[in-house]
Amino acid sequence: MPNLNSSFSHLNHRYLFSLISEKIKPFQHLDLVNLGIGDIARPLLKPIADAISLAVYEMTSLETIRGYGPETGYSFLKKAILKDEYQKFGFCEDEIFISEGINPEITVFHELFQAPLKVALQDPSYPAYYDTHVIAGTIDSVNRPCFLNTNHDLGFYPELPNEKVDLIYLCSPNNPTGAALTKKELKKWVDYALKNESIILYDGAYEAFITSEDVPRSIFEIENSKKCAVEFRSFSKSAGFTGLRCGYTVCPIDINFSKMNLNQLWTKYKTIRSNGVSYPIQRGAEKTFDPQIQVALKEQIQSYLKQTKYLKTALNEMGLETFGGTDAPFIFLKTPQSYNSWQFFDFLLEEFGIVVVPGSGFGQHGEGYVRLSGLITEATFEKAKIKFETLVKSGLYEAHH
Ligand code: PLP
Repeated sequence: MPNLNSSFSHLNHRYLFSLISEKIKPFQHLDLVNLGIGDIARPLLKPIADAISLAVYEMTSLETIRGYGPETGYSFLKKAILKDEYQKFGFCEDEIFISEGINPEITVFHELFQAPLKVALQDPSYPAYYDTHVIAGTIDSVNRPCFLNTNHDLGFYPELPNEKVDLIYLCSPNNPTGAALTKKELKKWVDYALKNESIILYDGAYEAFITSEDVPRSIFEIENSKKCAVEFRSFSKSAGFTGLRCGYTVCPIDINFSKMNLNQLWTKYKTIRSNGVSYPIQRGAEKTFDPQIQVALKEQIQSYLKQTKYLKTALNEMGLETFGGTDAPFIFLKTPQSYNSWQFFDFLLEEFGIVVVPGSGFGQHGEGYVRLSGLITEATFEKAKIKFETLVKSGLYEAHH
């Protein structure tokens, strides 16, 4: 009998979002307002759907049928990605890897490295980074990660480690705090990584939501970052692809360790582990770069940001303390003093039918907050506003503040 991977038993909690789904099940009959998981709320643009359909129909003809595609993605999509942004940093097609989204890439990228690994994680941050290292056995009770305090007192910017680390997971704009690293802050990390021979795994899932002038869209805007960073991008939130699945990873050819090249290893990894992303989906992703579609997608992002801003302003006007919401569709709401994150989650759900995500689910420095998603429609915002107004008027919030 084979032994099962015992590292799974060290995952001492259920995956955050499945736990939340479970918790809200008994309340489904209520008129819930979901500000929780942060999935998209707006439909796919029709021309993108048309591009996908057309590509599906190509499969029905002997002349245009496509079988297995290139493992690292079709050239047409790589070209569109390069033209849109990465060409100006000097990248080429071999450095662009088409993926099924950020999650399936960033959770396995560490397999290119040899254990033991010192892993640095923002606290709070997207929980999949931590969990995947626990499963791999590169984080356990002995090999603890270096948690980068990213709390309110630090303006939600992560604190540089005071030890040498191997892998650094940075997410900007950040899930869950909504804070985004400025050029000056990000440069500190590139300098640290170059000095300590660390690799930065840069999660840019919310890049499309950046509005601040001093916030870089890509880590490659920082000088010399090509020697120490890998960037992960996705069409999930920027183009409504959470259900279609497509993204890309930018892995520079300039990173070498002990005579091995990171880009070559990742290429090898992809050829072994992947048979490529579906051709129609890559055609759909290509369509997102069409100038007219870009305008429509920007409008979609703006409408999400508008709802986020309305929600944040409404909460602030009610006297509630919020953070984020400027460069990301997330608002980090301070819980009333007598509630921890989970208690406030339960309270909002049970008493008011509001679904949020407890900040502590993203790490201990997320304690005392809940995350609200602004990936919502106007109707959801209106409902949320009324519910929060009722909550504040009831005096319950005040009583616990
Ligand atoms: N990274 C962060 C920070 C996220 O919040 C999410 C999704 O919520 C992902 C990655 C997953 O993105 P994808 O849909 O591209 O797998």
